[in-house]
Amino acid sequence: MRASQFYISTLKEAPSDAEIVSHKLMMRAGFIKKLSAGIYNYMPMGLRVIRKIENIIREEMNRAGSVELSMPIVQPAELWQETGRFEKMGDELLRFKDRHQRDFVMQPTSEEVITDIVRQDVRSYRQLPKSLYQIQTKFRDERRPRFGIMRGREFTMKDAYSFHASFEDLKREYQNMFSAYSRIFERLGLEFRAVSADTGAIGGTGSHEFHVIAETGEDAIAYCPDSDFAANVELAEALPPALSRPAPTEALTRIATPGVKTIAQLAEFLKIAETRTVKAIVVEGDDGAPVLLLVRGDHELNEIKAAKLEGVFSPLRFASPASIRAAFGAEPGSLGPVGFNGRIYMDRSVAVMADFVIGANETDQHFTGANIGRDFPEPLVADIRNAVAGDPSPDGKGLLAICRGIEVGHIFQLRTRYSEAMGCKFIGEDGKEQIMEMGCYGVGVTRIMGAAIEQNFDDKGIIWPTAIAPFQLVICPMGWSRSEVVRDSATRLYEELVQAGFDVILDDRDERPGVMFADWELIGVPHRVVIGDRGLKEGMIEYQGRRDPEATKVSTADALDFVR
Ligand code: ATP
Ligand code: MG
Ligand code: MG
Ligand code: MG
Repeated sequence: MRASQFYISTLKEAPSDAEIVSHKLMMRAGFIKKLSAGIYNYMPMGLRVIRKIENIIREEMNRAGSVELSMPIVQPAELWQETGRFEKMGDELLRFKDRHQRDFVMQPTSEEVITDIVRQDVRSYRQLPKSLYQIQTKFRDERRPRFGIMRGREFTMKDAYSFHASFEDLKREYQNMFSAYSRIFERLGLEFRAVSADTGAIGGTGSHEFHVIAETGEDAIAYCPDSDFAANVELAEALPPALSRPAPTEALTRIATPGVKTIAQLAEFLKIAETRTVKAIVVEGDDGAPVLLLVRGDHELNEIKAAKLEGVFSPLRFASPASIRAAFGAEPGSLGPVGFNGRIYMDRSVAVMADFVIGANETDQHFTGANIGRDFPEPLVADIRNAVAGDPSPDGKGLLAICRGIEVGHIFQLRTRYSEAMGCKFIGEDGKEQIMEMGCYGVGVTRIMGAAIEQNFDDKGIIWPTAIAPFQLVICPMGWSRSEVVRDSATRLYEELVQAGFDVILDDRDERPGVMFADWELIGVPHRVVIGDRGLKEGMIEYQGRRDPEATKVSTADALDFVR
């Protein structure tokens, strides 16, 4: 590529809404251009990085046995109604109508569509397992789009889905994807950590997140350097199982559920006895009294189970701050700034209370405070939400350390949450019809671009890991228009490097050296070769790695071997 032909648009100053270094540098280096809140143009320089990230992901997914397809960005509401997510997904789901007044959504993820495909095509256990993935535009109407493309509204995700005849086989594929993800983030050249995670609005049981370690990460991660324990502190899922413990009966006397006095009875009532974690949400009962509703530890299911109870508790909604105060005797001030409102939608932000979790529907607006455990005996599990470095690890194997991370990947064992709702079945070896087990696996392609910068920059600009740099090497000729010798040598080296398979850009813009160097340091190209009249007279050119303090003289004869 020749720079004169390419599209380079660097800025001296970052726009004032750019808060963190990756956003500032991506804007200044001309990788992205804002169109609207959380909606960005991927400029040619940025798109090269995105394509390289995609290719690494694609290669590793293919190697892991997943097959690529592409599903529409615009999806009919009917499928989303089958799983209940059309109503329940909340404001992040962008809904709109076509000219015939039919409802559609922009895909925030694609469980419904993939399940619809597989239920049409797969009939027998002999066709299973299947793993499919796409690299596709997603839309989520984020409440606070920020950090450029790191939390955009429109972004690119690699989302994969697997279908199995048994839970055992799902667990095997989950492990396979865990390894594939580890390879992906290693090849991207990023420092990352896999942690236990909450299952969020996607639903399901087992789950891990992959985090790029960075000061500016939105998530806090607790890990134990002496063991395998690592968890996103936003979740309760990583905690030891609660169900096997004796029920805190004293607390349950407050529950207004007819005939249900213990967790075991409630579990039975909700048919959740097999679950690992019990959570509680507060709903308002018929008589207006708050009711503690215990449900399994995944939020989508919470909503479904809760919805099924509509006949019992009507209207079903989160309790008002006043009723929570009445239920738990919490003092005013222990509620979050906005507290609970009437929407059923439940975000992943949850507050741990002894063995229970009370849901809030806005981040940081939990029911929290010193009074939170007062109705319960001693906490039965550790609350790692407030963990600080040096606390004992919940696995008892050492002390916790805390770091911050950016969630770049997330894998889930969905089990039958979607396949059951959508009738995705197969005929088993025994001739009987069964529901498929499912897994899903996401990587934030565009978010990785920002996360990589958060780990690799200096005061001059970005320092790309070579695997995802927009160009691996830049050739900077001194006096392009003035010196024919320089022009010829630079062009020859450029052509040789291209021949040798390098991703090279030749800066033929005829800019002053200072401007040229500043641009390429800002853009973050990892290798630079400078060619000038003076050096050429001695048969030398200059090489400098982006992290090197100074340039090295290399003989023109050795140049190719040197950069190689
Ligand atoms: P977050 O906790 O950051 O909101 P999420 O848990 O809602 O992310 P998932 O549903 O797990 O996201 O989606 C899979 C991946 O997609 C995430 O791990 C992340 O890398 C990426 N992703 C999610 N939301 C965004 C966004 N708004 N902008 C860019 N990437 C995103
Ligand atoms: Mg999210
Ligand atoms: Mg998350
Ligand atoms: Mg996630």
